[in-house]
Amino acid sequence: MDLTIPKPDLELKARARRFAETVLFPLEEELELNGHLPDATKAKLKQAVVDHGFNAINHAREHGGQGLSIFQQTLVNEELGKATGGLWAAAWHPAVALKHGTAEQIRDYLVPSCQGRRRSAFAITEEGAGSDPRRVRTRADRRDGRYYLSGEKWFVTSGDVADYLIVHAHVDGDPDKPTLFLVDKDLPGISVKRIPKFMHNYVFEHPEFVFENVALGEDKVLGRVGGGFELTKDWFVEARLQIAANCLGAAIRAAEVANKYAAERVQFDRPIRDFQAIEFMIADMAVEIMAAKSVIYRVAWEIDQGLDRKLVHARASAVKLYASEMAGRVVDRALQVLGGRGYMRENPVERLYRDIRVDRIWEGTSEIQRAIIGGQIKKRGLGPYVDWA
Ligand SMILES: Cc1cc2nc3c(=O)[nH]c(=O)nc-3n(C[C@H](O)[C@H](O)[C@H](O)COP(=O)(O)OP(=O)(O)OC[C@H]3O[C@@H](n4cnc5c(N)ncnc54)[C@H](O)[C@@H]3O)c2cc1C
Repeated sequence: MDLTIPKPDLELKARARRFAETVLFPLEEELELNGHLPDATKAKLKQAVVDHGFNAINHAREHGGQGLSIFQQTLVNEELGKATGGLWAAAWHPAVALKHGTAEQIRDYLVPSCQGRRRSAFAITEEGAGSDPRRVRTRADRRDGRYYLSGEKWFVTSGDVADYLIVHAHVDGDPDKPTLFLVDKDLPGISVKRIPKFMHNYVFEHPEFVFENVALGEDKVLGRVGGGFELTKDWFVEARLQIAANCLGAAIRAAEVANKYAAERVQFDRPIRDFQAIEFMIADMAVEIMAAKSVIYRVAWEIDQGLDRKLVHARASAVKLYASEMAGRVVDRALQVLGGRGYMRENPVERLYRDIRVDRIWEGTSEIQRAIIGGQIKKRGLGPYVDWA
């Protein structure tokens, strides 16, 4: 048994670290203090993503992506997750569901998205449908060989910079026909209702969209009619691992900042790390990070080895749940070690404290992950979690 990370993967990770430190970190304060980045800066950032080779790390080279394995993606996402303000999202990941498109959809949507000529956003959530997507009211009514899309979508991350949306709708209003549609944003009948502000300052926005009888050809169905959940499930696995890796990076950065500060900050004539209360907090951070890293790397590696799809779903939930809650605990302690400075917006730990809160909510809340894990245990016993295989 050899758990050594291959040298090329370590080099990739070091490259991602350099990209985060030299391209993303310098933009953090401007984004935080102004709430957004100027368009010219966003354009430069986009070019830097391509120049450093971090666009579409989740897609095959023949589609314009970087062709990284899941394990390699995890290493990159860990490093990018150290950046605050959601700047990791600048390195776009076109939805994995696009791989299941027709040859024309791959040509017109996936390939240009990987190359940065187009950008997608995923729209499932609605006012009345969050954890329970069967409550989706957005409908696609079939008439005369076309679909007419009507409804509203909330929290559409990167909806401001996307030029098309992947919309989850029920065909003819039937919850048994959940279906994904490729919806170009400039079609008549699409409008932005609101761009709400959130706890974090994120590099892009999360607008709400309204669709009024938007006419779509049959060629805009992604996958098959009724197949929306299967495709979304694949997306969830990838997104959950990505969130876990981002959380790991966030926790490591917070711990590094706190550890350095604890060594330098003197009170009562000694560095504060010499107080056991502080030393123990740093020890707890290190142990939790070590545990999270072990489970994230293991599951990413197992997926690359062809782990059974059901086990992949079961374990991706566990990884997302553990890593997002771990990051919450670690960043909270890091902030405490920093005292008043940890509460200042110029401090990355303060920003991480707000940034990572959403990781316990999006792509399935912590409660939904626990419900998935509980369901798996009822069906399969504790094996998927306590056995090694
Ligand atoms: C910043 C941000 C960005 C987002 N980006 C996107 C995006 O790009 N695309 C998109 O489609 N969505 C997006 N979302 C939506 C996100 O996925 C939902 O917020 C999330 O799934 C939870 O849904 P909800 O907010 O409606 O909460 P609800 O589902 O109403 O849940 C409220 C509370 O009830 C609990 N709860 C619900 N059901 C159960 C249950 N069965 N058992 C136990 N507890 C339960 C939840 O855990 C939670 O604590 C985003 C959200 C945020 C905040």
